[in-house]
Amino acid sequence: MAMPNEEMDSQTGLELPRLGQTARLFGRALVLRCPNCGGGPVMKNWFAMRVRCGRCGIRLERGEHDYFTGSMLVNYIVAGLLLLVALAVTLIVTWPNVPWTVLQIGGPIAIVIAIVGLFPFSKLIWLAFDLMLRPVTPEELEWHRTETTEWSSERSAPPDP
Ligand SMILES: [Zn+2]
Repeated sequence: MAMPNEEMDSQTGLELPRLGQTARLFGRALVLRCPNCGGGPVMKNWFAMRVRCGRCGIRLERGEHDYFTGSMLVNYIVAGLLLLVALAVTLIVTWPNVPWTVLQIGGPIAIVIAIVGLFPFSKLIWLAFDLMLRPVTPEELEWHRTETTEWSSERSAPPDP
């Protein structure tokens, strides 16, 4: 039997994610659109995000200069899982004549391709994940639209609300 968990009460600011909203956030991220509004553009190119969404104006780093550390984690985990699946399929299909040399050379190349290929998705999925737990308020969105500082280049902390 589970003990009553009183610590849950201290997590103010965290909303219980709703299924429909969650599906919408991640669905938008998977088609490279802004998780917040479904519009865009959000990418400068495949390797760089815009500072803000071109439609709703949300800052895609949410004002935190090391915001995307988590997105790199998403990137590596998804890339790793995909390659494990690919490796398993190759072993099953080619057994017992597994092309070990091809795997040795192709493996690292596939890792790089997967990480680069997943780059924009992982950033938007990370933002969707964040919006799921901390939905953006109208006040925050207003700050996103008016704040002009580039946190990625200036190592200063965002102002307290
Ligand atoms: Zn948007």
